[in-house]
Parts: sequence; structure tokens; C-alpha cells
Amino acid sequence: MDLDEVVAVAGGAAEEAEVERALTPAGRDGFFAARDAVGAAIAAVVRMTALDNVFHVVTRSTSMHCGARRLNGGDAAILIPLGVLARTRVLARLLRCYTDRRYAGREPVINMMGSAMDERTYPFEIAPDLVPLFGEHDGGDESYYNALEALDRRTPPDPYRDAFAIDVMGMCLTYLTLHELTHLTARHDTLSKLDRAADPRIPAHLSGVPLRRGSEVHADVTAANHTMMLSLLGLEDIQPNRARKRRLHELLYRLPFAATMLFGMYDAHRKTVYDYDEGPYPHPIIRYEIWNAWSHAAVESIRPSTAKTAAKLGDAGFWDCIVAYNAMEFDCMTGQYGGTPQDTGRYFPLTALKYGAASALQSRIEADDLLWQQVAALVPMAEAESR
Ligand SMILES: [Zn+2]
Repeated sequence: MDLDEVVAVAGGAAEEAEVERALTPAGRDGFFAARDAVGAAIAAVVRMTALDNVFHVVTRSTSMHCGARRLNGGDAAILIPLGVLARTRVLARLLRCYTDRRYAGREPVINMMGSAMDERTYPFEIAPDLVPLFGEHDGGDESYYNALEALDRRTPPDPYRDAFAIDVMGMCLTYLTLHELTHLTARHDTLSKLDRAADPRIPAHLSGVPLRRGSEVHADVTAANHTMMLSLLGLEDIQPNRARKRRLHELLYRLPFAATMLFGMYDAHRKTVYDYDEGPYPHPIIRYEIWNAWSHAAVESIRPSTAKTAAKLGDAGFWDCIVAYNAMEFDCMTGQYGGTPQDTGRYFPLTALKYGAASALQSRIEADDLLWQQVAALVPMAEAESR
């Protein structure tokens, strides 16, 4: 297919007025700034590959599914739905509001019970008012954005919080784009094609879901590393020193917050460790651990003197997001996000981002770590095959 066909199938390219409607005027400006920065990174990465052009398209879709498509000739396209960006901005404002209230002493630290090792034997649903953030919305773009806006209005305006949310949205755009870019540059689609044709160069133990999962983790690893690198390299342009340092500290706190939030946002239906043992994505805590290791590797290589500060601020960003998710989960149980009061148990847990399962996760982290490395080892063969 050519670019126009691929974009049409994905819902069409979002126009500026639609971006503004979905993200607010300030969010539109933040979006264009983040898109330009990641666009330059795409161009730099693509120059090192056999790809000709990679088009970066934000589509009208309200879904959560990003994608990468190969086009006729040597081109490719990365498709990011506008709906994902709108969700991340609203969710970041909402979570940050919980954090702000806690810092102001108006909200206790809520440690919700439950562990990612708990078995779930009852039905799960997304609390009705949170469907625009975590679920699929049927019923047209206009009604989707109206529902999202209604949710967003519950978070009082605040200049710091609003700017924070737009910054986090830009970080999510960068991360998701670089994740999709890795699928293209690492030729994961060629590997899948060879696997489907039972090519003997794909080892039997990787065939099927493990290949897909290893590809996803490989894309996560690369995106984590490159998002941090790109963010740190962007600091070079900031003057004076004081402003640069302030931005560095913001990045080191907000990037982990954004990653935690994003893995939680994509985790709406599977709530235990075991639900992730099969399937293309690891448990969100494993995704976060892998994200953390590889973004930290970027700090070590570019700004080793800040590695300690990065670890400290990173912990704070991660935990603030987790505690905010817990507070939100508590509000789901008390019916703040809709539903009949006697039946809100079905909205719990909001996310599997719970640390009650660290021991069960360790061996799984190691397994996923090995898996992506095995897939990455096949990439040179896939590149040669694609030429
Ligand atoms: Zn992917």
C-alpha cells in the first residue's frame, strides 16, 4: 500500500484544528514541539538504515493502538492515534492532581491491598467514567472527546499541573514513536514473515508468540534508551546553566512518571502476573523495570555524573505515579468514577502495577530479558533478507 491508503485505513491524518480540540491550544503547541524533536531523531536513525523515508503520522483515531507499516518501495509509516495523546494528557493531569493533593497534605498515601500474584476469579470492568482513558469508545470521535473532556474538567486548572501534563504527553509521544520505529528498523515484520513460512533460521523455541513478545521487548528497550538519550541531548540547547539543570531534573523525574503511567494505561484488562505469562507483552512492572534499566543506561553513557540523581528522581517519579494510581483505584471503589455503589468491586484493581509480587517477577524479568536478546540477535539476518 502507499502512504495515503495506509493513513486512510487508520482513520485519516489529524488536522491542526482536531489536534487543538483533542489536546487544548497549549497541548497543540507542546505536541508540535515534541513531534519536531522526535521527527529529527527518526531522520537520524533512518539515515543509518536501508529505509528511504519514514513518515510520522498522527491519525484521527481515538483508539490506543499505535502501528508501523511498510509502504511500497523502501518507505514506511509510523501511525500514532491522536486519541492516545489526548488520553495521556488527561491521565497525567488527573494523576498529578492526586500527587499534588498528597504533597499538600490533603490526601493520605494510599497503599491499596492486593498483589499482582492474586488470582482473579470475578469479572473486571473499567469504571464507567474512566473508559475514555483506559478503554475503547464506541460512538464517534465527537462523543469520545466530549466524554474525555467531561473527565478532564474534574481536575482543576493549575498552570504547573497543566504544563506537566503536556510535557508528559510529549514524552509519551516520543516513547511510542521510537517503539514503533524500532519495529521498522529491526525488521521485526521480516522475522514474523520468515517464521510464518517456517524458515529454519527462526529457532523453534522462538516461533510464534515468543518471537512477537521478544520483538515487543526489543522495541521497549530501544525506545527507553533512545527517549532518554534524545531528552538529554536536547538539554544542550538550553541556556543559562541554571535553566538547563532545572530541565534535567524535570526530565529525570517526569520520564519515569510518564513510563509508569503509560504502562499502567495500556494495562486495562489483565491484572495478574499469570495473565501475562502468555501473550505479546510482559507484565507492566516488568516493562517498567526494563524501561528503567535501559533509560538508566542512556544516563550512564551521556551524563554519568548525574546517574545517582537520576536514580533518586526516577524512584520518586515512579512511586508518585504508583501512589496516584492507588488513590485513583480507591476512588473507583468508592464510586467516584461511576457505577452502582454496591458493585464497584469489579473496577478493582485499576492496574497491575503493584509491587506485591517482586519475587514472582524476578525470574520473569530474566526470561523476557533473554528473549529480546535472542530476537535482537536475528536482526542482521532479517536486514540481509530485506535487501
Ligand atoms: Zn510494539
